[in-house]
Amino acid sequence: MTARIREFLRNRREDGPCVVVDLEVVRDNYRRFSRALPDTRVFYAVKANPAPEILRLLTLMGSCFDAASVQEMEMVLAAGATADRISYGNTIKKERDVARAFELGVRLFAVDCVAEVEKIARVAPGSKVFCRILCDGAGAEWPLSRKFGCVPEMAPDVLEHAHRLGLEAYGVSFHVGSQQADVMAWDQALGSAANIFRQCAERGINLSMVNLGGGFPTRYLKDIPEVGTYGDAIFRSLSRHFGNRMPETIIEPGRGMVGNAGVIETEVVLVSKKAENDDVRWVYLDIGKFNGLAETMDEAIRYPIRSDRDHDEKVPCVLAGPTCDSVDVLYEKEPYLLPFSIEIGDKLLIEGTGAYTTTYSAVAFNGFPPLRSYVI
Ligand SMILES: *Cc1c(COP(=O)(O)O)cnc(C)c1O
Repeated sequence: MTARIREFLRNRREDGPCVVVDLEVVRDNYRRFSRALPDTRVFYAVKANPAPEILRLLTLMGSCFDAASVQEMEMVLAAGATADRISYGNTIKKERDVARAFELGVRLFAVDCVAEVEKIARVAPGSKVFCRILCDGAGAEWPLSRKFGCVPEMAPDVLEHAHRLGLEAYGVSFHVGSQQADVMAWDQALGSAANIFRQCAERGINLSMVNLGGGFPTRYLKDIPEVGTYGDAIFRSLSRHFGNRMPETIIEPGRGMVGNAGVIETEVVLVSKKAENDDVRWVYLDIGKFNGLAETMDEAIRYPIRSDRDHDEKVPCVLAGPTCDSVDVLYEKEPYLLPFSIEIGDKLLIEGTGAYTTTYSAVAFNGFPPLRSYVI
C-alpha cells in the first residue's frame, strides 16, 4: 500500500470494486530487476497486466515484452515500443497469427515441437526461435507444469529442424512456475539448457540465448527473498553450467513486475452464518473469482487483506464473491482470519493485486462489470 494509492482511494466516489496500480512501484521493480541481473534483458510478460500506462512506462524505461497473442503485440506497439522488442512467447499459435506477427515486424518466437517450427518456417522465414523445455514447477505456488515445453532430450531435434528449415535456432527457454519461492529453482533447468547447447554444438548449431522465464514472486502473506537473491543464485547456476561460455539471457517477469504495485478496494456485501452455533462466519465481498480474484482457484494465492478494524480480534471466516455460482468461494478449506467486528458496508483492501487480476476478470458474469482499473 502506497501513500499515493491511499490518497486516490480516499477521494474516489464511484461504486464497485477497483484495482489501483501505482506506476512508481512498477518503475522501482523494473530497476530492481535490471540491477539484480545486469547483463539480462527484461521482457515484461504482458498478460500479467497490459494497462497502457504500464506498457508506456516500461517502453520508456527500455523494457522488451513477452506477448502471448497478436492483440498483446498490438498493445505493446501502441505503447510506442518497436517490434524488435517483442517476443511471441506462446508455444501455441495459429499459423495466421504467426504470419500477422511477422507482418508487424516480430522476429522472435517460442516453440516446443516440430509442428510449431514448421508453421514459423512457412510464414515467418528467417526468424529466431527458442525451444521451451518442461520444468516441474516444484516450489511454485502457481505451477505451470505440463502444458508448455518438451522434455529436454527432444529440444535438440526441434532446434535442428528449425535450423534445417532456414530459421535461426536461437536458444532455450523454460518457466520455473509462477510465484516461485525457491531461488535455486532455475538451477536444474539451466543444467538441461547447457546440455542442449552442447548437443546442438555437436550438430554444428550454435545456440546463443537462454530465456529464464518468469516466476519471480510478489509478497503476499509470507516473506519472499529479495530479487537480488534470485539474481545471485541464477548467476551462480549460469556460471556453474556454462563456465566461461556464458549465453545471452533474458527474463520475463510478470507477477514480480506489477504484483505489489496494485491494491484492490472491495466492499463487504454480507456477513452471515449457516447455523446459529457455527464458529465460522461467511463474509461475502463485491469481488470474487469472476471479477478479478481468479488466482484464488484451489486457494493457491492467498492475498493479504486489510481493514480499518485490524486492531480488533480476528476470527476465522469463509470468504466468498458476489456471484450466483457456488465455485465463487475464495478461501474455505483454510478459512481467512478477519476482525470479528467486520460489518456489512466495510471497505477492505486486498494487497498484491497488480498482476493477474484485471486480465482474469469476466466481461459480465451475472451482469457484474469487469474489474475497474486505475493506474496512477
Ligand atoms: C506467464 C508467463 C510469464 C510470467 O510469469 P510470472 O510468473 O508472472 O513472472 C513469463 N513467461 C511466459 C512464457 C509466461 O507464459
